[in-house]
Order: sequence, then C-alpha cells, then structure tokens
Amino acid sequence: MSLTKKIIIALVLGILVGLGMNKFAPDLFVPIDTYVFTPVGQLFLRLIMMLVVPLVLFSIILGTAGLGDPKKLGKLGSKTVGFYLLTTMIALVIGLSIAYVLQPGEPGLMGTVEEEFEATEAPPVMETILNIIPRNPIEALASGQMLQIIAFAVLVGLALGRLGEKTSGILKLVEQGNEVMMYLVSLAMKLAPYGAFGLIASALGKLGFDALGSMAMYVIAVLLALLLHAVITYGGFLAFVAKRNPLEFLRNFFPAMALAFGTSSSSAVLPVSMKTAQEKLGVSKPVSSFVQPLGATINMDGTAIMQAVATVFIAQVYAQQLSMGDLLTVVLTATLASIGTAGVPGVGLIMLAMVLQSIGLPVEGIALVLAVDRILDMSRTAINITGDATCAVVIDESEKRSKAKAASTSASA
Ligand code: ASP
Repeated sequence: MSLTKKIIIALVLGILVGLGMNKFAPDLFVPIDTYVFTPVGQLFLRLIMMLVVPLVLFSIILGTAGLGDPKKLGKLGSKTVGFYLLTTMIALVIGLSIAYVLQPGEPGLMGTVEEEFEATEAPPVMETILNIIPRNPIEALASGQMLQIIAFAVLVGLALGRLGEKTSGILKLVEQGNEVMMYLVSLAMKLAPYGAFGLIASALGKLGFDALGSMAMYVIAVLLALLLHAVITYGGFLAFVAKRNPLEFLRNFFPAMALAFGTSSSSAVLPVSMKTAQEKLGVSKPVSSFVQPLGATINMDGTAIMQAVATVFIAQVYAQQLSMGDLLTVVLTATLASIGTAGVPGVGLIMLAMVLQSIGLPVEGIALVLAVDRILDMSRTAINITGDATCAVVIDESEKRSKAKAASTSASA
C-alpha cells in the first residue's frame, strides 16, 4: 500500500477514534492518550523536528551556491516574496468576503465564554526586519530562529558559490550532509501514518464536537474560506500559470498536508513537505530549498484567513461597524502578521492581537475564538504549507521556462 493511502487511512481513523472516544469513552481516553496516542505522535514529531534545522541550513547553502550569481538569487527572492504577498492578500480578501456573507458573530456572545486572553505585544516591524541578520549564527541554529538561519545559509551559500574550487571541500560536506538529512526524513516517514494517527486522535479526543457550540458558524466560515482559497487561488495558479493538474498536485502533496494537520506546525513538517515537493512534484532542489523554508517562516495564507474571519466575527460580537479603511488596515496588518507568525502551533492567534489593535477592537475578543482554535490551527497549517508548495511549483516552472527560452535563443543565434 502506498504511503499516501496509509496516511489517508490514519487521518480518517484518527478523526473517528478521537471524536468517538471524546463522546463515548472520555474516561478511557485519558490513559490511552497518555500512554499511546501522545507518545506515538510525539515520537514521530520529534524525529522530523530534529531534522528541520540541519536540513534548512544544508539545503539553503547548497541551493544558493548552486544558483551561482547573486543576481539570480535576487530574482528568485523577489519572485518568491512577491508571490507570497500576493497570495496572502488574496487569502485575506476571501476571508473577509466569506465572513461578511456568513455573518458568523452575533452581538452579546461575549458573555457566554469564560476563557480569558492576555495579549502579548507584537514586536515592532523594524525590529523584526533587523532581526533577520543573526548576531550569532550558532545561537540562531541552537534556538531554531528560522529567518536568521535562512539569512546565514544564504550568505554562506553565496560565498561558496563565489569562492569555487577554493572551498569545494566544504561544499561537498554540505552536499553530503544534505543527503544524510534527506535519508533520515525518508526513514522517519515510515512512521508517518502512526504518528499522524496518534497526533490527530490525541488532539480531537481532547477537543470533541462540543467545543464547537455557538462557534460553529465561525468555524464553518474559516474552513470554507480555507477551502475556497485552496481551490481558487492555488488551483488557479497551478492550472493557469504553472500549467499543472491541481488534482494531481493534491494527490501527491496530500501526505504532507495530513501531517501538517496532525502537527499544526509548518516548521515541523518542513522536511516532509520539501522532500515531497522535490520527489513527487518534481520541483528542482535549489528552488524547493529556498522557497519552502522561507514560506514556512513568512507565508501563512491559512493563518491570514483565520485572522480576517476572526476580526469580522469579533467586530460583530462587539457590534462595531468596520469601515472600508478598517478593512484595508486589516489586509495590511494581517499580511505583516503572517510574515511575523512563526510556523509553530497557535502563534497565529497571538498575532491576531496586532490585527485587532490596528482597528481599535478589544484584544480580549480573542478569548471568544480560543476554544475552537486548535482545530482551526490544524486546518490552516495544512493550507499554509500548501501555499508554499504551490509557490515552489509555480516558480520552478517559470525558471524552467526561462531557461528553455534562453537555451533556444542561444541555439538559434
Ligand atoms: N500553526 C501555524 C503554522 O505553523 C501558525 C498559526 O497560524 O498559528 O503554520
């Protein structure tokens, strides 16, 4: 049986067992979760997380060195960032529109929740930008500061590309390091169906259906907007720009999406999503190595959608009208928030504070959506990494086309 099939079965079983135990055997769930679901899920999660930092470091150094000159890197970088910004803005427009059509919030809902939320200050934009350059690369690696690792790896890659023969030993070492990491990813993937089952059963067993309650409309609005964004935006880019079959993309990339759903972390599944893009979607290594780690760090379309719907929802609950200017502010701040959101569970909700504050809504409103955020985090993470992989496919196709064009013009000259 193929890995994809096994993972689909694990996903369905995980959902059924988790929700079923929550409903019919909540007492049994606790020990089984502690001794079976959580350890199995965590074992797999730790195995792939262990590979994230070395894999990102090696593969970006290799990809950048392979690109050769900094101009090419600049072009690739600006195309990638442009794609990410554009798709995040489209995601926000879809999220806001669905929220307006479905009207998920009602005034007065606030009294019905007991949860409390303490907002933490979002870091200022300039600090975030400066912070991309690490003071100490070893510290960045040790604490898994993804943007800093990317910046350091790009610089080392550029240097290796420039120095050529002189540093060919280091390049070889990095190449072999990358091979080792990729091999370990394929070993860890053998455990993926069990890991996905454990993670999903554990999360849904804790959550159950009851949490939805009065929030069902909000959950439906977010899920619908996520689905529309995947079909319209990603499907459109894949079919019309990259000229690829979106269904085939889905079939090949699905295992990574299921794991993103299970882990709620773009960063954790990065090794799997890169391997899948390179081996199943045919994305070249330099493009995948550059585009996907960057995307897992700065591109969060699913998170942006949740923030758009949550903002409209909270405004409705507090009976506050949003003007056109407010909506534009939401698009801008949520795009920035998406860049600043780390690819780990739950951060999108913290960054929502920044969006709410930008249009004068009370941050305590976040308490309203807290109870259902786990399930939405799982769903939006699957969309977040799909956006990164779509970008990798689209950019890879355009690179291949411009290479082919250059080759044919030089042949005819
Ligand atoms: N969990 C999301 C991710 O890793 C981020 C978030 O929205 O909280 O992509």
